[in-house]
Amino acid sequence: KTQYDVLIIGGGPIGLACGIAAQEAGLSYLIVEKGCLVNSLYHYPQNMTFFSTSERLEIGDVPFMSTNTKPRRAEALEYYRRIQQKFELNIRLFEEVTMVYRRTDGFEITTSKSSYRARYVVVATGFYDIPCLMNIPGENLAKVSHYYNDPHYYAGQKVLVVGASNSSVDAALETYRKGAEVTLVVRGACIGPRVKYWVRPDIENRIAAGEIRALFSSTLTAIRPTEVDILTPDGPITIENDFVLALTGYQPNFAFLEKIGITLADAPSREPYHNPETMETNIPGLFLAGVVCGGMNTHLWFIENSRVHATQIVKRILEIER
Ligand code: FAD
Repeated sequence: KTQYDVLIIGGGPIGLACGIAAQEAGLSYLIVEKGCLVNSLYHYPQNMTFFSTSERLEIGDVPFMSTNTKPRRAEALEYYRRIQQKFELNIRLFEEVTMVYRRTDGFEITTSKSSYRARYVVVATGFYDIPCLMNIPGENLAKVSHYYNDPHYYAGQKVLVVGASNSSVDAALETYRKGAEVTLVVRGACIGPRVKYWVRPDIENRIAAGEIRALFSSTLTAIRPTEVDILTPDGPITIENDFVLALTGYQPNFAFLEKIGITLADAPSREPYHNPETMETNIPGLFLAGVVCGGMNTHLWFIENSRVHATQIVKRILEIER
């Protein structure tokens, strides 16, 4: 088995930052990513604009140049790809970590393709792989998606968007502008408080003008091939429908975290246990990094405030090694 000082699970921005920090400290490391490089970012909507300015997405002290105030998905993909090239990061793509076993001298890590040994393991698996389900009849129909990609697909279609956060608002506005007939179903009484400040007036004006129909304090209760049922404050209604974009949020892979032995806090947060100074979990030598740390509170961590996890972890490893 190949032996490393550190094995990093996840090749997102923070997994890459951990790789850079390990490399700069002279530790041997391997990053294992189940999809393509920065897989989560790759699966973001085609036209997605970050809410962060580009310097806040930087890792490895490499400037992220963008002519836009807020960079777009395509620019971020290019930036992180060049980071990987520049640092010649040791990364295996399209290889999923399936288990981490604790051994007397470190860990044994099994993947979809191989197995490795490492003295330390960093879990930087993010939260974008598992959507929060509505658990309603018809949710498994092919016309229902928990990810939104490109608006053209929905041209001329009756689209129902569930949710009132950034993903939902972006999808509602984009599909409306490509000629979809859009209904937005929102559980709360208004558009979400964290919607990008420059997008908020756009959605509010489209709703006020009746161009996007918004049903507030309402819940989608059932989906059928050509219609959907919605419970509104005025009672249940049924409307015609071609596609449902259920952008109801995402969550970390709790089953994986539990399987490898990490203690989770009680619901609702289910925050995986970690020492905030060192990022070490309840298992000595096993660390958490990046947005996975928030559990269900997926809005707590982002690139800007979690890239520092890389340096915290490597500092702790060097202390143990001393
Ligand atoms: P991720 O980027 O999610 O990386 C985790 C990686 O682990 C993934 O590539 C995944 O494929 C891989 N993985 C998971 N399980 C395994 C396994 N078992 N084996 C191997 N690999 C595995 N943050 C900001 O700072 N600014 C923004 O503007 C911003 N906009 C966002 C917009 C959207 C639509 C979303 C969903 C999130 C946004 N975020 C933003 C938050 C976002 O989560 C972070 O930007 C960033 O992706 C977090 O980096 P990460 O490395 O912690 O996790």
